[in-house]
Amino acid sequence: MPISTKRKVVLWSLWISIVPVSLFFVYHTYPPPEMNAWNLLAYVLFFVVACLMPMNINGSSAYLVQWATVAVFLKYGIFAEILFSQLTVLIVTLRSRTAEPLSFRIPFNSLMFYAASLLAGIAFYAAGGQVGSLQLTHILAYGFIFQFVSFLANQLIFYFYDKSVGANPKFFSIDVIWDFAITLLVFPYALAIYISESYIGIPALLLLGIPFFIMTAIMKLYNSSEKINIDLKKAGEIGHQLAARLSTDEVLDQFVLQVADLFKADYAYVLDYRDNQLQMLRMFENNELLKNSVPPVRYNQGVGGKVVTTNKAIIYNRKSEWKDIVTGHLPIDSESIMAVPIARNNKTEGVLILGSRQKYAFTSRQLQILDILSTYFAVSLEKASYVERAIAISERCGLTKLYNYRYLDAKLEKSMKKITDGELNKLSLVMMDIDRFKGINDQYGHQSGNDILVQLARIIEEEVGEEGTCARYGGEEFVVLLPNYGKDLALLFAENLRKRIESHPFEIISDLDSERKLQKIQITLSIGVSTAPEDSDDGMALIRNADRALYIGAKQAGRNKVAAYAK
Ligand code: GH3
Ligand code: MG
Ligand code: MG
Repeated sequence: MPISTKRKVVLWSLWISIVPVSLFFVYHTYPPPEMNAWNLLAYVLFFVVACLMPMNINGSSAYLVQWATVAVFLKYGIFAEILFSQLTVLIVTLRSRTAEPLSFRIPFNSLMFYAASLLAGIAFYAAGGQVGSLQLTHILAYGFIFQFVSFLANQLIFYFYDKSVGANPKFFSIDVIWDFAITLLVFPYALAIYISESYIGIPALLLLGIPFFIMTAIMKLYNSSEKINIDLKKAGEIGHQLAARLSTDEVLDQFVLQVADLFKADYAYVLDYRDNQLQMLRMFENNELLKNSVPPVRYNQGVGGKVVTTNKAIIYNRKSEWKDIVTGHLPIDSESIMAVPIARNNKTEGVLILGSRQKYAFTSRQLQILDILSTYFAVSLEKASYVERAIAISERCGLTKLYNYRYLDAKLEKSMKKITDGELNKLSLVMMDIDRFKGINDQYGHQSGNDILVQLARIIEEEVGEEGTCARYGGEEFVVLLPNYGKDLALLFAENLRKRIESHPFEIISDLDSERKLQKIQITLSIGVSTAPEDSDDGMALIRNADRALYIGAKQAGRNKVAAYAK
């Protein structure tokens, strides 16, 4: 959600009209005790380190710097506490990466923490708390009041802000309970650092700070290795699933969807690199796979071009880093981009581009995982294309390139099932056999016979077009399946084909002729036709019927004829 300029102006105006004046009053009402410059510097350093080392809890960063703010408050009072917590807010705000602009977050966070400091401090003084006291019960009781009011004020401000922008916040959410638990956890630390600093001075900050920061660092390392483990495990699963896909389309779809999901990308694209061009293969935008609608670009253009020419993966954290490079297609609201080459045998074959509407959405650790995944992808794609090719070859006759008997058989069975299921009304089967083909082989040689079979196959294909399926049934027998063709229409088709073949000059170079000249010869076809469901609703029977029509009605009746099966 973009933050309107009006809201920013209101926030900054509020900040300028509230903070300086009220800070002046705070200073006069609760003047801070004298501060030692070294002490002050030590505290500032302590705060900066605490802000730079957030603790990762449940996947979100928790800034445990409040334990130091409470200590500062107990020692120096509200004025110092406000300054220190504002310093904290500034560092944390500058460091955190969210979609909202700094011009909004700085005044908002500053005001929120300012209000919390003010309310907590006033509550402390009003209840009778005294800054600088070293009496344990006093520190415990009043310190808790300070901490509790500060926590409550924070939650209330967030709650009412969320409400005011139309969200539907819950006051007692899991997050609030977490926050409260952390508050309770750091409270004893706050007291410990305050008391020990009062007795032994600056070394107390080291004494308590060092183990605390080491713990934070260990947790951070642990969390990030845990996250890598989870991502690697998911990447492994994606790899297995990709390897199980047998068609290139499935591999592509699966890869794009799963990678977008794993890296929480809003946009994902796979580009194919060939013939000096980058062609979009898959697009994923706003949770759906889209039809490719983008024209190809030259291989060195855009983000994809950059990946291809450098052969390196890239991460961009914000729009300003890539807006001068991009030429093709990227939604206007994209910010972060992560792009990797898809390579096989060290040769770049494509590019994967992920986009996010958030700034700083992708990390170099994710890039490494993506790199592994893109290798899985390239290998799976290659395997699927081998499988596709093998299937295509296994379905075709090596000589004529028409479908073979195996394919015809399966297709016929499927079509007959459609007939029985009522999905298809009728289906005609046309079977043809070349007349006296043995004689042609004998006269011109088998090579010439083969040439005729190939030429005939092309003519049959041309006649059928998109209307049906052509197959080589056996030696010089061909079958055409014509869905939605009734007997009359199929007979018409067969008669046209018969006439065309009868007058078509087939070109051969006779092996048996010593001159090896190009010759033209004529052939004729005998054709039988049967139709489902009127003749039969069984595939094998349909073939048998057409065969009978062919031999009895056409061959025995003198050849070069078309005959229909009659019961
Ligand atoms: P009919 O009119 O009765 O069909 O006579 P025909 O000679 O065509 O019939 P027959 O079944 O006796 O012979 C078929 C011939 O087709 C046998 C074989 O020489 C030829 N043939 C079958 N397959 C091929 C092939 O792949 N290439 C070549 N060149 N000839 C083939
Ligand atoms: Mg024959
Ligand atoms: Mg035959």
